[in-house]
Amino acid sequence: MAVIERNQAKVERLIRKGHDVNDTFSPPFSPLCFAVGWNAGAKLLLRAGADPSTAIHWAIVYEDELTLRDILHSGSRLFASPSTSRIKGLWNHCWRYESVLGFVLWRQSVQGSISPTFAHLIVGAVADSRRKLMDLSQKYMSLQELKKCGWVDPPNQGLVSDAVATELARSLLELKISVPEGLWPSGKQSIYHEEQMTAAAADDLFKAGFQAVDLEDKEGWTPLLRNAWFSWWSHWQRRKLYLQQRIACIYWFLQHGGARVVFPNLNGISVAHVIGAYLGHTWRLGWSREHVWKEDNQELCQEAELHLSPVLDRVFSLISTSQRDDCQCFCSENGCLPVHALLSNMRLNSFSESWPGTLWPTWTDEQELLRMWRICAASNPLSELELFEVCRYQIFNRLGMRHTCCASWSIGKQRLFQFQTMEESEKHEIREEDAYAKSQLDAFTLLYQELNAKYYDRFTKLWDMWWDVLEEYLPSVNWTNPFSNLGMRHIQIHDDLVPIEEHELPLRLDQIKERIATAMELVSEI
Ligand SMILES: [Zn+2]
Ligand SMILES: [Zn+2]
Repeated sequence: MAVIERNQAKVERLIRKGHDVNDTFSPPFSPLCFAVGWNAGAKLLLRAGADPSTAIHWAIVYEDELTLRDILHSGSRLFASPSTSRIKGLWNHCWRYESVLGFVLWRQSVQGSISPTFAHLIVGAVADSRRKLMDLSQKYMSLQELKKCGWVDPPNQGLVSDAVATELARSLLELKISVPEGLWPSGKQSIYHEEQMTAAAADDLFKAGFQAVDLEDKEGWTPLLRNAWFSWWSHWQRRKLYLQQRIACIYWFLQHGGARVVFPNLNGISVAHVIGAYLGHTWRLGWSREHVWKEDNQELCQEAELHLSPVLDRVFSLISTSQRDDCQCFCSENGCLPVHALLSNMRLNSFSESWPGTLWPTWTDEQELLRMWRICAASNPLSELELFEVCRYQIFNRLGMRHTCCASWSIGKQRLFQFQTMEESEKHEIREEDAYAKSQLDAFTLLYQELNAKYYDRFTKLWDMWWDVLEEYLPSVNWTNPFSNLGMRHIQIHDDLVPIEEHELPLRLDQIKERIATAMELVSEI
């Protein structure tokens, strides 16, 4: 209570009398938590032996820089390492709290609160702690023992990664050397595997001596992939800023040694797929409430063009725009291209039983997004192959076929992207059920290719014409919106689709061909 009253004399008296400064009357808040915002009091408590780890989150939440410095100086733990058991304070109250750096970055990028100074302070503390752990290890362990932990000699090539540091700490414990709580590393492969990394924080880490930026963790994720993957919903008002931040971060990794951009163990996706998926999703946040956000989306578009071009230039200098993943969905010829990831993440799959169906963008929306993608990848305009795949994807949707491919966004559990949201058996079943529709899909794409070959010199005209005519013979789906109260526009109910009868198909295709031939001739006459 004396702390809450900010009564220095009383606190000093209590400490002198031998009161336990860690005695918590209101868990999880320690007396030190209550001293946040009152630096003199915090100093008193810390000097008297208050556990700094109990209040570090609180000092961050209240942006009490002075107290945070004191807490760090007193050797607060920085990670809730699984190897140490006693965790007091706020560590157990949210999974986001398992790393102080992660917590700060999360508050900074997702919530938009807190100044970057705090991340800077924590980075400094993490580097200090790593250096101390390395010194301690060198003092008690032979070079051979160090190497067994993954230590690479000579040791002055930067700070060891978290995976190595964990081994060092464990070995020290085995040797009965006590490892101060503040020296324990994260349970991740490297410090760069923190999500929500910012370019500034990454740069700080790099300068502080963490030089391994492209390590793969056990699941095959590199920091670049982890940070290109968006794992949090940013508030829509912060979309642009968040997009900027994410892109700057991706760019930082690409510039500082992030060279692995294709991930064979992760369904063969590439960073370009992930960026596409991210853009598609971010765009969707706008179109789902079009009347409010239309202008906002245009700004987003300019923002993306400005910042994304150098990133995509870099990525597409490492891989081709026709890099395919391992999906076997009928919507692509033989695996999704980045452009598929872009489009398929504009749709929102149902995440609740009472809310069946899929929320779809319109073809107009999709074309807008494609235009943006093309502009962002200025030196890599959509190739013929990509356009063909876009065409196939669009027809696939219009035929009411069901996707089995990756990159479907699910808002389940952790609000994370999932590569495979579907069981193999379910995929197989869908593919069997859609086998007939697939033959129609093939017939349409074949016609497209035929026309494409015939009018290759007037492609742009053909592209517009194709979609005009198709709207008549294979219209975009009739959208219904039974959920207008959710502010969402288009729900495709598969049952509403009228399938094309077998005997109708050749006639329809012929008519399309004829219509386009007439129109194209008209164009060439003019
Ligand atoms: Zn698909
Ligand atoms: Zn895929």
